[in-house]
Order: sequence, then C-alpha cells, then structure tokens
Amino acid sequence: MILRLLLREVAPGITLRDLAWRLYWEGAYAPPRSEAQFKMLVGLQRRIAESVVRGLSRIVPRMPYSQGNRKTGNIWSFDLPPILTCPYATFCGRPQRGGPICYDVNTARYSPQHLLREYINYIHLVRQGYQWLADWTKFVVELRGAKIVRFHVGGDVFADWYWQYIKRLAAEHPQVVFYLYTRSFPIVAASPDRPKNLKVLMSLDATNHAALRTYGQHFDHITYLVVGPNVDAQLPKLAETLQWAQQHGKRLIIFLQHTRRQQLLQKLKAYEKYICPQEAGKNVTCDKCRLCFT
Ligand code: SF4
Repeated sequence: MILRLLLREVAPGITLRDLAWRLYWEGAYAPPRSEAQFKMLVGLQRRIAESVVRGLSRIVPRMPYSQGNRKTGNIWSFDLPPILTCPYATFCGRPQRGGPICYDVNTARYSPQHLLREYINYIHLVRQGYQWLADWTKFVVELRGAKIVRFHVGGDVFADWYWQYIKRLAAEHPQVVFYLYTRSFPIVAASPDRPKNLKVLMSLDATNHAALRTYGQHFDHITYLVVGPNVDAQLPKLAETLQWAQQHGKRLIIFLQHTRRQQLLQKLKAYEKYICPQEAGKNVTCDKCRLCFT
C-alpha cells in the first residue's frame, strides 16, 4: 500500500519516490547551522523541485520536523513512512471499506507533502545515520525553541539501531521532552533503559493486547485504541488492561475510533476518566494536557 502511494505520480512521469531521491542526492536536507543556512536550503529545495516540473515546489517540505497542529499544539514531530517502518503494525484507526486502517496512511493519501517528508526522513536516516538526525534536532531545539518532540505521528521504531538513536538524542537534550507511541514492543523491551525525558507509550488494541503481560513493564504509560465493530467483545480486555495498569502503577489512556466516537463514549461511560480528553470532545491541545508525556 505504501509503495503504491510512493509510486503515484506527483507530476507527469515523476513519482513521489523520484522526487524524494532527487532531493536527497542534491543535498537539499543537509542540516543547517543557522537561519541563513536554512533559508539557502529552502531555496535549494524549491529550485530542485521546480527544475523537475514547474509548480512542484508546493509539495516540498522545508525541513524533516513539522511544528505542531490544532490537535497537538506547540509540539514538534519527526515522522517516518507508515507501514514501511511499522514492523509490528496491527491497525491504527479509521475504517476504510469496512475495515480499520492506519490513520497516517489516510493523511498520506490527501497530503503528498506529508508522505514526501516521511520518505525523505527515512532515506536520510538509513543513508546518513545518527548525525543527520542529531544536527536537525539541534536546529529545531536551539534555533526554533522546540521543547517537546513527538516521534512518529507516522511510522514506528523499526530497528534496534534506530531505537538507540532515539535514546541517544534524548540523552543529548535533557531539557527537551521526547515521547512516542509504539507497537514495536520487542525492540523496546530488548533494550528498555532510557533517559527520563524520553517517555514511551505502549499502543495496545484488541489484536496485540496479549503483549501487555509480557512487555508492559517496560513502558511509561499504556494506551488502548478501541476500534472495530465488536466493542462488547473488547470490554474484558479493556478491564484487564486497566487492572494491570493500576497494579503496576502505570497510566492508562484510551483512544477511540473517530468515526464511532459518540457511540463509543456512550459504551465506555465506566472508563470516562481514562479517555483522552480530546477524544472526549474537550477543547485542549496535547501541549496543555501533557498526560501522554509526563
Ligand atoms: S491524552 Fe492528552 S496528551 Fe495524550 S493525546 Fe490526548 S490530549 Fe494529547
């Protein structure tokens, strides 16, 4: 699925993947050390895109990080291509043709810029390694004032070496809060020690719930996504998750399938205080709520 999205044409004869590689080869995302360098970089990105096809610069991202949105508030995020970097993916949200699929694939469908950024990030990570990620992080922390960084609105911890990068990054910026939700439980559990400013949330749903007892101890908080038509069958799993979380001193945060939110809120009245405030319809951004990363 992700390959089909990458191979769609963004201009006649030019796929999203072609454009991502072209930008990589031309050095359009070399980490800048100043705002002046950043400005030059943006100019280079535009020139490259326009030299491929006129008008293409409209979808080229300015940097690997993106700065918040209406849901998160002032939180920076670093994303990777969904599915391709999700070795333990189950499903992640909104239904499509009757079945649930990853919410980030939906975003990638209507926003080529979003997917292009994710693919550019992936290429650079794999090809250039830690220093590339570290230098861009330094840029957003020191020159843009990032104080909270979320990993993976799209994507996940796809390999141990990348997990080590994330931990090293958090250790290098103790004043910044880093957090991520993950289904890559075995990768985290194989090397669970991490800096205190890196919060890792276990992403459970009805299909991977059994992993709680094996891996739950290694996570800061536990999340459970209620999704799919058969909610009643999930209630015992939810009850078990809550009990386990309470016994082990972990916070439980419940997320809901958006298209069925009202119905689920009715069904889950007993769990009201564990439901993410945004899911419950409250007007609060993540940077104000902070439940997930404190
Ligand atoms: S619980 Fe709070 S921090 Fe977590 S996703 Fe919901 S609003 Fe954001």
